[in-house]
Amino acid sequence: ETVIVLLTRDLRVHDNPALATACEQARHVVPLFVLDPAIDPRHRAGFLHESLHDLRSSLRSLGGDLVVRRGDPVAEAVTLARTANATAIWAAADVSAFARRRERHLAEACEAGRLGFRLFPGLTVVPPGDLLPSGGDHYRVFTPYWRAWSAAPRRKVLAPPGRVRLPDGIGVGDLPAREPYGLLRGGETAGRRRLDEWLKSGLARYPDDRDLAPERTSMLSAYLRFGCVSPAEVVARSARRAGGEEFVRQLCWRDFYYQVAFAFPELPRRDYRSRGSDWKDDEQAFAAWREGLTGVPIVDAGMRQLRDEGWMHNRLRMIVGSFLTKRLGIDWRLGADHFNDLLLDADIPNNCGNWQWVAGTGNDTRPNRVLNPLRQAKKVDPHGDYVRRYVPELAGLPGPAVHEPWKNPVPRYPAPILDGV
Ligand code: FAD
Repeated sequence: ETVIVLLTRDLRVHDNPALATACEQARHVVPLFVLDPAIDPRHRAGFLHESLHDLRSSLRSLGGDLVVRRGDPVAEAVTLARTANATAIWAAADVSAFARRRERHLAEACEAGRLGFRLFPGLTVVPPGDLLPSGGDHYRVFTPYWRAWSAAPRRKVLAPPGRVRLPDGIGVGDLPAREPYGLLRGGETAGRRRLDEWLKSGLARYPDDRDLAPERTSMLSAYLRFGCVSPAEVVARSARRAGGEEFVRQLCWRDFYYQVAFAFPELPRRDYRSRGSDWKDDEQAFAAWREGLTGVPIVDAGMRQLRDEGWMHNRLRMIVGSFLTKRLGIDWRLGADHFNDLLLDADIPNNCGNWQWVAGTGNDTRPNRVLNPLRQAKKVDPHGDYVRRYVPELAGLPGPAVHEPWKNPVPRYPAPILDGV
């Protein structure tokens, strides 16, 4: 028996339920990745390609390979199933409307072609839709979800397959060249190294340091985004350590937004809760925000880190998001699109869920909260080092004075685009 495992955003050999089950139950397994021209990975292309190279070398060391095709994933998987004489196509279940449409097409194509079809968990710790509040189709508020999630049964974290046996005569296909971009190197090997390092020397300080910029958090988000590390494994390995509960709670936020997106597929475009006022059309202010030229140092530092490194600290994302939507009055969808262009970790549930939270159209129980950038700056960057790193025009201002350049105007740095920062 031969099974095709269509890999999408589960680019790992550790704790990969579809791959592990196929290798256990089938004589031959074809791990397949299809580069789909309909999906533009934007600045994530380099991370994705590095992840694919890494996965190929892991699969080779297990006796197999990563088979790569270009085109429509459903058509390519079915064609390959015929060439390889396969009996089934398996994959990991996803949540976005786009991915679920693809799953439906794949299920139909398998039925028409008399192939077995199965979806496996693995994208989240608890599968979206598994936990439901009484009388509702999903959890709208985090705390009750956190309670139910913490008590939910967990599947076993799986070891990598012992061996991957590819059938004979399958062309493996070329991968695009590696083209590194941003702060992080893609792939399971780099992700696991970061996780080990984090458990050893970062996690214990997380409850105290997580709101300080820049690198005091795990920086695992891009690895989770592409499934280079398994969220279930991250939780299992951190849960009982010092700092673990606070960290695991953040991973629960990730699952929370996945179950919101699962139940509310319009999340990327439609307000989850109506805001009841119009957004402003202000291209000039939006451009200043994008370029990191608002004249508010903490906002500009965050936006420049995003532009240069493809990453930004969570608190900074909240500050720049609140500034765009609540202070400049600009539509959260424009902010989410910009983040989606540049972030290495951007995905629909987390990006749009968090943007709606920040804008007051989402799951925040205090939708009218406005973050004060100056007060926030003093908390997240008390000594001003973060701002000086990303806004070199201000490098001459010492300590926290860097957050208020209007008190000592600096040439080449703009005055704030808003009064009363
Ligand atoms: P850590 O603090 O180490 O947390 C560990 C993990 O928990 C993260 O990797 C992430 O998977 C999860 N997590 C942490 N905070 C959140 C959160 N607020 N919501 C959901 N999951 C969370 N995260 C993304 O993964 N992709 C996005 O596209 C994204 N867009 C965002 C947009 C805005 C406006 C805001 C405010 C937040 C966004 N986040 C997004 C959430 C959060 O900022 C990042 O997950 C976090 O900064 C990643 O850094 P880390 O891995 O070091 O996090």
